[in-house]
Amino acid sequence: MTSTIEKRRLRSLLMGLALIMAGCGQSPEGSDTVNREESVMPRYALAIHGGAGTILRENMSAEREAAYTKILLEALEAGEDVLAADGTSIDAVIAVITLMEDSPLFNAGKGAVFTNEGTNEMDASIMDGADLNAGAVAGVTTVKSPIALARAVMDISPHVMLQGRGAEVFAEEQGLEIVDPSYFYTEHRFQQLQKIQADDNAIMSEHDADHKYGTVGAVALDSHGNLAAGTSTGGMTNKRWGRVGDSPIIGAGTYASNSSCAVSATGSGEYFIRATVARSICALMEYGDMSLEEAANKIIMEQLVEMGGSGGIISVDNRGNIALVFNSDGMYRGRVTAGSEPVIEIYRD
Ligand code: ASP
Repeated sequence: MTSTIEKRRLRSLLMGLALIMAGCGQSPEGSDTVNREESVMPRYALAIHGGAGTILRENMSAEREAAYTKILLEALEAGEDVLAADGTSIDAVIAVITLMEDSPLFNAGKGAVFTNEGTNEMDASIMDGADLNAGAVAGVTTVKSPIALARAVMDISPHVMLQGRGAEVFAEEQGLEIVDPSYFYTEHRFQQLQKIQADDNAIMSEHDADHKYGTVGAVALDSHGNLAAGTSTGGMTNKRWGRVGDSPIIGAGTYASNSSCAVSATGSGEYFIRATVARSICALMEYGDMSLEEAANKIIMEQLVEMGGSGGIISVDNRGNIALVFNSDGMYRGRVTAGSEPVIEIYRD
């Protein structure tokens, strides 16, 4: 008897063949786009990011590059393990992001940037493309894994977004791991705060030549044909007044719909919110008949640039096409599809 998984694989294969016969393949444009429309749809696809910004080869030591490459590869493999075992795209996104939150190299979980008051306030969100369910948290200070909390909001609460102390109480009630706020302290991030406060005391932004957005994110298509996206961040160094960026805003920093694509963003949040970046890319596919690559380029390389926003996105569509698009110098990123070798990249070229 044919198993359900085998049937699904057969269906994927037939869908891929139908696409070839329909002759709807397009030649890929842009260096970081993997366009699968001309070939068989992959059984699964996964892309991850660890932030965009002024990331230049000439400023990177060999040790630092190796450390980033190693953790990006580990995160990609953690997600791929889930997808290869026919796990869900949501579980793959969680596997990637929790691993990156635990690494001090990224501005999420351990390693989150400091607020103006010297605290770490984290934001995260997740979205399930199958049913458009979503969960988000903002300004949490005691939850070890903000993305796990976002998932609990999605799965268990009747709400989409919780913030501050209420979100932490919900985390405690759900038995999520609670840590002392000092867990999030890293010397490197604390020194960044000292430097910026001694300098112009601005919120660290894109006009800072050394700026890197260290947010983390993942997007996945699973073997069941379902898309998911997630994003986790400490926000911007020296932020104040309870500032919340784009990362926990469904439609800005994160979006997923099986009708089109899954997107996770990193960059100057105030611009990403106003451009509703993640949803706009999906909407251009749904209503504008654009390919993922065209839609992502339109929003990141045209609209965001015109507005003055910098950063990038990772995305995967419901056929397994991947587009990694950024208008900054670099973006920590990785991608893999079933049957292909994982790819990790950092710089523009
Ligand atoms: N987008 C994030 C924010 O504005 C920052 C980042 O991507 O690192 O909070």
